[in-house]
Amino acid sequence: MIEVVVCGAGGRMGREVLRAVAAQPDMRPVAAVDPSLEGDSVPDGLGGEIPVATDLTDAIRDGGPDVVVDFTRPDTVAANVRTALEAGVDCVVGTTGLTEEELEQLAAHSTDDATLFVAPNFAIGAVLMMRFAAEAARYLPDAEIVELHHDRKLDAPSGTAMRTAALIARARDTVPPAPGRGTELEPGARGASVDGVPVHSVRLPGLVAHQTVLFGGAGQTLTLRHDAIDRTSFMPGVVLAVRKVGDLGGGLVFGLEHLLDD
Ligand code: NAP
Repeated sequence: MIEVVVCGAGGRMGREVLRAVAAQPDMRPVAAVDPSLEGDSVPDGLGGEIPVATDLTDAIRDGGPDVVVDFTRPDTVAANVRTALEAGVDCVVGTTGLTEEELEQLAAHSTDDATLFVAPNFAIGAVLMMRFAAEAARYLPDAEIVELHHDRKLDAPSGTAMRTAALIARARDTVPPAPGRGTELEPGARGASVDGVPVHSVRLPGLVAHQTVLFGGAGQTLTLRHDAIDRTSFMPGVVLAVRKVGDLGGGLVFGLEHLLDD
């Protein structure tokens, strides 16, 4: 039985994670950590109750988990990860907004017994979109990303867009100039430049998580699009990570793709 503490358990993602973990025959949620939760316990969505903790240190001490899952906020995730890794507990992190430098600093807290697993997107379709984007960029280096999310998202660009841009930049031999970059009539009209790839962030109520990657070449375009229309799309990836993080042997592992091909 893999015992799991869920950080951010009162949030949009955390509630789904509690339910997904509770539904697994080999997993058990032992604590729900979230300052926004009231009462001593929360329903797991399947008829059970999970004890609530306002503090991760208490939850680790009382619950003795194997894995901490974090879907919180860009400004709180680092402290949670440090707490878990220093207690020797594996971490599965979906919270986005951490910089590469912050990730490296957090990785320094991992040990052979406590792995930090981070994925900017746990949906298999998004992982495939990123893989196909890297493949396309080898042949069509002119690319732009449009990412669209709900209006409560705290970070922009999204972690998925940042990762996609990095993969495109790594795959293409040259960085083509982004046409019009120097001629914006309004600042930001050509989007942010992430590793040389223009990224445009849309935030609107009604959206969940969506991304389009556009490639252009002489006389042709190629469009890749992924839509997460429901947060259940992320759960098979989260469950897979919880199941496998204990076998990763320490350090930082970034991206769900590392868990898919073995
Ligand atoms: P949300 O609804 O705002 O949930 C976050 C929850 O964390 C809130 O209830 C918040 O409480 C709580 N929280 C704040 N500080 C905490 C702490 N120190 N310990 C425990 N809980 C704490 O956000 P969401 O939509 O679920 O998204 C959460 C994160 O997941 C975001 O970074 C988002 O970008 C990311 N995400 C990742 C993926 C992926 O596949 N990797 C997919 C979707 C979303 P308060 O409201 O009181 O602050």
